[in-house]
Amino acid sequence: MEKDTANYKDYTLLSYHHIPGVHNIDVFERAGGYEMMKKWVGAEPETIKEEVKQSGLRGRGGAGFPTGVKWGFFTKDRAAKKYLLCNADESEPGTFKDRFLVEKNPHILIEGMIISAWALGTQKGYIYIRGEFYQQAVILEKALKEAYAKGYLGKNIMGKGFDFDLYVHRGAGAYICGEETGMISSLEGKKGQPKLKPPFPAIKGYRGLPTMVNNVESLAAVPWIMRFGAAEYKKFGTEKSAGTKLFSISGDVNKPGVIEVPLGTTLKEIIEVHCGGMRNGNKLKAVIPGGSSSPVLNADDSYAVKMDYEDVASKGSMLGSGAIVVIDETRNMGDILKYTLEFYHHESCGQCTPCREGTGWMESIFKRRESGKAQKSDIELLDKTAASMRGQTICALADAAAMPTQGMIKFFRPELETYVTTNVNSNKR
Ligand code: NAD
Ligand code: SF4
Repeated sequence: MEKDTANYKDYTLLSYHHIPGVHNIDVFERAGGYEMMKKWVGAEPETIKEEVKQSGLRGRGGAGFPTGVKWGFFTKDRAAKKYLLCNADESEPGTFKDRFLVEKNPHILIEGMIISAWALGTQKGYIYIRGEFYQQAVILEKALKEAYAKGYLGKNIMGKGFDFDLYVHRGAGAYICGEETGMISSLEGKKGQPKLKPPFPAIKGYRGLPTMVNNVESLAAVPWIMRFGAAEYKKFGTEKSAGTKLFSISGDVNKPGVIEVPLGTTLKEIIEVHCGGMRNGNKLKAVIPGGSSSPVLNADDSYAVKMDYEDVASKGSMLGSGAIVVIDETRNMGDILKYTLEFYHHESCGQCTPCREGTGWMESIFKRRESGKAQKSDIELLDKTAASMRGQTICALADAAAMPTQGMIKFFRPELETYVTTNVNSNKR
């Protein structure tokens, strides 16, 4: 693939963010935006799909499934009715990178979606954005209008005989609508409840038709890959975790926020260099590396781990959506687990007994603490309940509640035992 002479750094996902007004289409275009759409829409679709596959891009929503492989499951019949669905629900506690991306630069996503829609032969697309992201939905709506006005969306795009309509659809604030089949149910106007997979949405999705669901960050990476090529993309990151990745960092650091670094960057570098170190010089206690559903890492593992899919997994956790929550020595892990379990119980859609009842049972241990009735042995019960929920349900929510619970018990059992048996009033901050 022909290599652009421009500096690749000018086109990384966050590199546009410092350009004032880049959410306006004219400013984005002056910065090189939509060049790849103009170049690739109308080109051989298989070339685009192959380039994305070769790049090794892995789904940035959390699962890390190879995007090009998923695209390969999609029907090649260009005349068949099918959809492109961008998952902008981003409800995992700790994750705010997609919000940051679309808020400042909605057009990078739209450009990525137009190229992807052409490659996949989809005639309609939806950006499903979580209900709380009202401002971002307004920004996206305005950006879509601009793209329509330029003839980049709609009928016969740029005179190339390609029709693609793109819509923003706002959710209503349910975590489970970020799960792709729950999202599809919601988009269909039904209760946002997940469905059993297979069939995967790529085969049978929205309205029973093939639907390609990709995360915001994955789709926004497509223009870069098509500008510089898969080989250049693979120069970033590690062999199995290619490219740069956005990380949302919150918690006890001096500079929380969103950064973009190559996969494989150490967590130590992220905390000490990119986030200005620990807040108040406090000692690191633990890190949740990939959003609330990922098991916690203790301080030793946190300082040793590289932030790529394989290395985080080797420490017993997962990279997930790249939502890093840094926890210092002043925090009680009991508080963190309590809030996490309240969240998952509240967000369970209720279809599966192990999830509906299990999340409730786990939360109830912390409720018993409030009435002074919890016992040390409840932590063992918590562990067993979590173990019995895993792999038994329609979607991953039950696992998302169980895995961090078990991870927390693995490293912090004595602290949790003390927490549940301590008079609740003595622990108030
Ligand atoms: P998954 O592994 O079931 O699927 C990943 C993707 O690959 C899906 O799009 C799926 O349809 C596709 N896929 C997998 N096998 C396929 C096949 N054989 N044919 C066609 N398509 C196939 O994971 P998931 O349940 O979609 O996502 C779980 C992850 O979501 C968790 O690891 C968590 O990190 C993440 N998550 C993210 C957020 C967020 O706000 N970003 C919120 C909750 C969870
Ligand atoms: Fe609903 Fe939980 Fe079952 Fe997922 S695991 S479908 S959230 S009950």
